[in-house]
Amino acid sequence: MDFTIPEKMQAILEMIREFMKNEIYPLEPYFFYNKFREMWPQINARREMVKKMELWAPQMSKEHGGMGLSLMEHALVSEELGRSPLGHLMFNCQAPDAGNMEILAKYATPEQREKYLIPLVAGKIRSCFSMSEPELAGSNPIELNTTAVKDGKEWVINGHKWYSTAADGSQFAVVMAITNPEASPYQRASMIIVPTDTPGFNLIRNISVMGHAGDDYSSHGEIMYENCRVPLSNLLGPEGNGFVIAQDRLGPGRIHHCMRWMGVCNRSFEMMCQRAAERKIGKKYLSEKQIIQAWIAESRAEIHAAKLMILHAAWKIETEGLYAAREEISLIKFFVAPIMQKVIDRAIQVHGGLGVSDDTVLSYFARAERPARIYDGADEVHKSVVAKRIMRNYPSPQ
Ligand SMILES: Cc1cc2nc3c(=O)[nH]c(=O)nc-3n(C[C@H](O)[C@H](O)[C@H](O)COP(=O)(O)OP(=O)(O)OC[C@H]3O[C@@H](n4cnc5c(N)ncnc54)[C@H](O)[C@@H]3O)c2cc1C
Repeated sequence: MDFTIPEKMQAILEMIREFMKNEIYPLEPYFFYNKFREMWPQINARREMVKKMELWAPQMSKEHGGMGLSLMEHALVSEELGRSPLGHLMFNCQAPDAGNMEILAKYATPEQREKYLIPLVAGKIRSCFSMSEPELAGSNPIELNTTAVKDGKEWVINGHKWYSTAADGSQFAVVMAITNPEASPYQRASMIIVPTDTPGFNLIRNISVMGHAGDDYSSHGEIMYENCRVPLSNLLGPEGNGFVIAQDRLGPGRIHHCMRWMGVCNRSFEMMCQRAAERKIGKKYLSEKQIIQAWIAESRAEIHAAKLMILHAAWKIETEGLYAAREEISLIKFFVAPIMQKVIDRAIQVHGGLGVSDDTVLSYFARAERPARIYDGADEVHKSVVAKRIMRNYPSPQ
């Protein structure tokens, strides 16, 4: 087992660290207190710098205009970028666009590539992924009310979606809809590309999440699709393959997410240690208190264990494929998200009142990362999947 980070990656990570320090962290206070939409001139200026450094779209192949990093390599990049809420967006590897780029690269027709994939990778447009519905449990995704019915040369889409992250200001949605209600459960749905200026695409609101509705990229949309008509050629991949494509989207995406969470953990951890070293309570620094020392040691161990698990899952996907790695992919989801929550919370506690103010990144992390235990499959679903697989080896007596 060799844990050495290759020289090429060490150089890339060092460039990213410098860029984060000089160009991204200084923007954060503006981000906490202003409309996201107003930040685009500052974001675009930095995106141009990233392109010049040849670090643009690290997860995409060179053929598609990216850096062509492997999953393991991009995992390390994602860890660095995750240290700031703005990191991934600056490098054009942010959710949900990164997942949409991946499925478009795999399934798009030449026309769809031209119209959607190329401008998305170039950072000229944004997108959203529209699957979850308020009336049905997202944990059982085969249940969908949204339908897409063929009428002449068009799909007619009707349905109610929510939590379509970043819908506000995006140019197209990838919509999951039932196209054949008579088919077997996993073949009923298809993915369809819907430009957001299509009549019948109605963004009702940005959902207020933990007190913040946000705007533009930093939002979660509720959408009504009302007789929304798009050409039949907007079908992404084969008809009835919605769930197959969704699986393709989730596997590598989970590695990106989990390593982004590692970045959140590392930043929170370092802030906790720094504050503990500087804050004096009476004659002693916080770092001299045993209870704080325990939090530091426990956090260090948990972050380390989580990172090794994620990198192992990435390695298994790369060497044996998504199917073989499905257990590891579930394990990291429910193992890493609560660790992140714990580490953020300890860091906040050590910062006292400062920790819950918006003067540091910690309260943003606490708010924005709490959903990690819910999206991408609620933790309980993944635990149940793993336990069921394990228990196949331990049949109960008849
Ligand atoms: C911030 C955020 C961003 C999101 N972004 C997107 C997006 O871009 N596109 C999109 O389509 N969707 C998105 N979602 C939706 C997300 O995928 C769903 O919220 C998720 O699948 C859970 O579905 P649900 O909310 O309907 O909860 P439910 O399915 O109703 O589950 C509620 C709870 O029940 C428990 N539970 C569920 N199943 C089991 C089980 N088998 N055993 C025991 N307990 C169980 C879990 O604790 C779970 O949290 C996002 C959600 C959030 C919060």
